[in-house]
Amino acid sequence: MQDSKEYDLIVAGAGMSGSLAATMAAKQGLNVLLLDRNRPEEAGKKTNWGWVCGDAVAKNHLDFIKEHSGLEFAYPELEKKVKGVYALSPDMKSKFLFEGEGYVLNRPAFERKLLAKAVKEGAECVHEFEVEGPIIEDGYVNGVFGRDKDHNQVHVRAKVTIDALGIATNLRRKLPDNPYVDRQVSIDDVESTGRYICSFELDHNDELFYDPDNALIHLNQELAPGGYGWVFPKEGNRVNIGLGVQKRSLEIRNKKLNKNDTLHTLIDNYIKFNPVIKNIKIDETDKNGKGYWSVAVRRQMESLVYNGYMGAGDSMAMPNPISAGGIGPALVAGILSGEAAVKAVRGNDVSVKGLWHYNLAFNEAYGKKTAGLEVFRIYLQSLNNDVINYGMKTFLTAKEAEDLSYGLVPELSIASKFKMILKGASNINAFVNLLYVVKKMKALNALYEQYPKDPSSFQQWRAKVAKEIEEAKERFQPNPV
Ligand SMILES: Cc1cc2nc3c(=O)[nH]c(=O)nc-3n(C[C@H](O)[C@H](O)[C@H](O)COP(=O)(O)OP(=O)(O)OC[C@H]3O[C@@H](n4cnc5c(N)ncnc54)[C@H](O)[C@@H]3O)c2cc1C
Repeated sequence: MQDSKEYDLIVAGAGMSGSLAATMAAKQGLNVLLLDRNRPEEAGKKTNWGWVCGDAVAKNHLDFIKEHSGLEFAYPELEKKVKGVYALSPDMKSKFLFEGEGYVLNRPAFERKLLAKAVKEGAECVHEFEVEGPIIEDGYVNGVFGRDKDHNQVHVRAKVTIDALGIATNLRRKLPDNPYVDRQVSIDDVESTGRYICSFELDHNDELFYDPDNALIHLNQELAPGGYGWVFPKEGNRVNIGLGVQKRSLEIRNKKLNKNDTLHTLIDNYIKFNPVIKNIKIDETDKNGKGYWSVAVRRQMESLVYNGYMGAGDSMAMPNPISAGGIGPALVAGILSGEAAVKAVRGNDVSVKGLWHYNLAFNEAYGKKTAGLEVFRIYLQSLNNDVINYGMKTFLTAKEAEDLSYGLVPELSIASKFKMILKGASNINAFVNLLYVVKKMKALNALYEQYPKDPSSFQQWRAKVAKEIEEAKERFQPNPV
């Protein structure tokens, strides 16, 4: 890395999204600098806690990568194949398919492969570099500043910077006040999460608690208020087991139940609650056994670009608002942002207008369903276990629930549903609210179908999106117990 040199592209963060963005741009001839705080063998490690993640990814995302980059994955990085992801109701009586075929990754191996590809394609990779903020000049991001491994302060310049620093990004947070990319994310839209990777003894077979062929999600507002718990099978008698909570829901739940639980105690309780997983032993391979981190569960930032700046992955709040699945969108955004950087640099326009095609490409490939899903998440967080049990049994068919999880809006015919005899005021209320949610999802999906073709109409469009979401947040308050 030379202080005086100007790169075409700096990619900050060599995780899922960053390594792929660097690959795509370097492959097409851009002069790319990839910066990360980790040593090469720790590629993509999020924090000192390790590669904290459930590591489940749907096959269709990997197909997208192959189609666009030629990059294929196999064992060992695709550690365990799963037929699907199932969401279970709190009483375990209803089970809905959430996502189809996929894999539970060996995450460190997967990330090392992505990084190796970026280097092979010609990206210059500088490790142990702490990015501290963007260089801002005349309303443009012209590179980044930070500290190299000897703690020297370094400024590096580029025509475009891709922010792939994950949820704690200090690039997006340090952008100038601007009408495109928000610097803050509301704490209500963030899940505090943690997970263990461990071996265990199987007490007895019960596929509601551990299924070697499927990933399981346990919805339960007492065990995981405002979120859910998961048991994802890994190779051998090993699992990735963890849970996520919304801070506000946890506070309400603790107060009402007169408890003092934290994320840490909840995870331990969740493991005790599981009758088939016994005698766990933390797997310390790659020092990646136990970890805690956060994940945003809102729609992605309305604009992913600013002058000289693009964002990909968790830095832009891309995970799916219901499942918190962020690997897929991070991979997709990595590919698309790298391609978009090439186009903008070659076209000699790295302004918001010149980068806008990335917003359109991501919206089309992934983003247009997420705002609708955010409303569904806000609704779910307002239901207690009894209503979720009743709703999963009564309101939705398995097909409708699956459609909803993909952001498709099912046609819930009121007449046919009211033929079911809904019992209890709170259940009737929840059903009426579900109809409201479906209407809102339709409105938001329609707005995202009309994502602004250029920045000129963005402010009006954004105000309409904000209004829909605010109305939903106003109507549905967290109410876990
Ligand atoms: C507990 C948990 C469970 C999850 N489970 C799933 C799941 O099962 N399936 C799924 O699809 N998604 C899941 N997610 C989400 C998924 O992990 C993320 O969406 C994904 O990792 C995003 O990739 P990324 O490249 O955007 O960012 P990250 O993976 O966060 O990578 C960011 C990179 O930037 C580096 N970096 C950060 N700051 C700096 C800095 N200042 N200077 C230099 N380098 C820096 C980091 O070290 C890292 O290498 C989960 C998340 C959590 C927290």
